[in-house]
Amino acid sequence: MPEIPYKLLSKQLSRPDLLVTELEGLEDYFHDATEDKGTPQAVVFAEDESDVVTTARFCQQNHLPLIPRGAGTGLSGGCVPTLGGIVLSVERMKKLEIDSRNRIAYVGPGVITKELQDEAEKLGVTYPPDPASYDESTLAGNVAENAGGLRCRRFGVTRDYVIGLRSVTMSGEIIETGVFSANACFGLGDLLVGSEGTLAVVTEIAVRLVPIPKVGDTILVAFDNPKDAAQTVSDITRAGIIPTVLEYLDGDAADCSNKYERTEGLDSVAAIVLIETPFEDRQECAGKIERFCQANHCSYFRIESEPEKVEKLWKVRRNLSKAVKEMGKVRVSEDVAVPNSKFPILVEFVLKLNASSPLRINAFGHAGDGNLHVNFLSMSGAPEELALMEGAIEQLLKKALDLGGTLSGEHGIGLAKRRYLRLEFDGATIDYMKRVKSVFDPENLLNPGKIF
Ligand SMILES: Cc1cc2nc3c(=O)[nH]c(=O)nc-3n(C[C@H](O)[C@H](O)[C@H](O)COP(=O)(O)OP(=O)(O)OC[C@H]3O[C@@H](n4cnc5c(N)ncnc54)[C@H](O)[C@@H]3O)c2cc1C
Repeated sequence: MPEIPYKLLSKQLSRPDLLVTELEGLEDYFHDATEDKGTPQAVVFAEDESDVVTTARFCQQNHLPLIPRGAGTGLSGGCVPTLGGIVLSVERMKKLEIDSRNRIAYVGPGVITKELQDEAEKLGVTYPPDPASYDESTLAGNVAENAGGLRCRRFGVTRDYVIGLRSVTMSGEIIETGVFSANACFGLGDLLVGSEGTLAVVTEIAVRLVPIPKVGDTILVAFDNPKDAAQTVSDITRAGIIPTVLEYLDGDAADCSNKYERTEGLDSVAAIVLIETPFEDRQECAGKIERFCQANHCSYFRIESEPEKVEKLWKVRRNLSKAVKEMGKVRVSEDVAVPNSKFPILVEFVLKLNASSPLRINAFGHAGDGNLHVNFLSMSGAPEELALMEGAIEQLLKKALDLGGTLSGEHGIGLAKRRYLRLEFDGATIDYMKRVKSVFDPENLLNPGKIF
């Protein structure tokens, strides 16, 4: 292997110390929030677009993989450098300009979702997409994964708010889409959103902002049977009620959250549903929801509107991914989604899978969108258990597809689900995706090994 001229790269960057090749202490950059790990040769901490251009050109010239990285909260292994190369962190690219008159924010890729929301809200507008990781994940990661979130049933996902992108290709060329270009005819931006860092490195994002919606009430409902909770979710949706948030947690997931941070009403429940009503018709909406909950035999029903108490209830959900991860030695989280009417069937399937397995399997998710995060936990991490886990995951994915659903509601394919891609897409569709990839990156150097 020819020696890689890293000294040349450090001279070309806007500051030499943006390139780090001595990686002791930087192990966080070897993984994301999954169990997957890789070992890069170097990490570049880009501070502006020129650093991204320089690094991409350097990788192209030296045939090195380039792995874009935001905050590393991904749940599909998207930023893991499994084939080595340079990890390109955009966490320092923090431009944040808000044009409140036109309700547009121009955002650097390293801005944290909540930072954007907080700044926008000071000016009376907001950015609604809110992944549960909103206080850690970056806008670049959100765009790359087309992140959803708790409020996405009512307000939409990342794609619905992106109105322009600046991006750098592997050859170091800059692509401008939407509001950044004079002509918005060809939907290149749509192609980049959700492309999981495989087509180009996003260097600036323009997003649409909206007036801050008034917040309705928060409702916590517990059930003695998870099927009743899932049926309630399905009934609410079928009745045409669109709560701002509609989240489902099975009893074991609720227990994990309660062990992480105790919440009243969560002791010994079989399942809970957490709901935020829209402000406009909060009373009518809460009344209808209560009737559905009672018809499905809820065991506990609580409505809160005081901000402090409400925040505490939402912590139950926001803590969950971390709370569940802490419970086992190995945790794999799948994020299937199915049509709402099939949600109860999926929930029942997961309960049976858990009952018939030595693994601990629990589930929670943005139920309003039919999205269920199913967690597979191995307490020992032993190879036999991991093999069982593979089998159980495949059963789940096949079931979700049989029910007319999808492999991934929001976390992306990345490394985690690439081997199952053929279960959902036919050969021609995958072939066209690969052809698009090869137009952007003919040598397959940008985030190689992901998706396909
Ligand atoms: C506790 C927890 C809760 C979560 N809740 C949700 C949720 O509710 N909804 C949801 O959708 N997800 C959720 N996630 C998953 C994750 O937070 C999202 O996928 C998020 O968008 C990833 O952002 P990130 O900055 O951490 O990206 P990373 O993990 O760093 O990277 C994710 C992908 O983005 C690519 N990428 C990063 N920067 C760029 C760039 N500049 N240009 C091009 N590609 C780039 C990477 O290569 C990778 O493929 C959760 C994760 C955790 C740990």
